[in-house]
Amino acid sequence: MHEVSIALSIMDIIVKKCREESCNKIDSVRLKIGKAAGVMPDALLFAFDNIKTDTIAKDAEMIIDIIPLGGTCNSCKRDFDTEEAYVLECPKCGSADFVINKGNEMEIIDMEVS
Ligand SMILES: [Zn+2]
Repeated sequence: MHEVSIALSIMDIIVKKCREESCNKIDSVRLKIGKAAGVMPDALLFAFDNIKTDTIAKDAEMIIDIIPLGGTCNSCKRDFDTEEAYVLECPKCGSADFVINKGNEMEIIDMEVS
């Protein structure tokens, strides 16, 4: 379950950032996860809740924004977004000639500290 290692690296990053800013408590952290990033949000939340005890983030809430998959079609030149987890063809024209440029991201957007 690689969500545990992701949760651990997020914890490392936010704790380090919090220390740099002389904070002693993390209240929340907001992430952006693309549908195609290969991360299961529920598993990540579960992992985070389990590792946060005994850290300065023990009361922190993790908020996850899911980014849909999107791309640009080379045939009809249109951009598209989809709720599907995989794209096999352009939803507008059915062409298989497209580029996915959204939905693979995973990043920390912001965090609240006190
Ligand atoms: Zn198309």
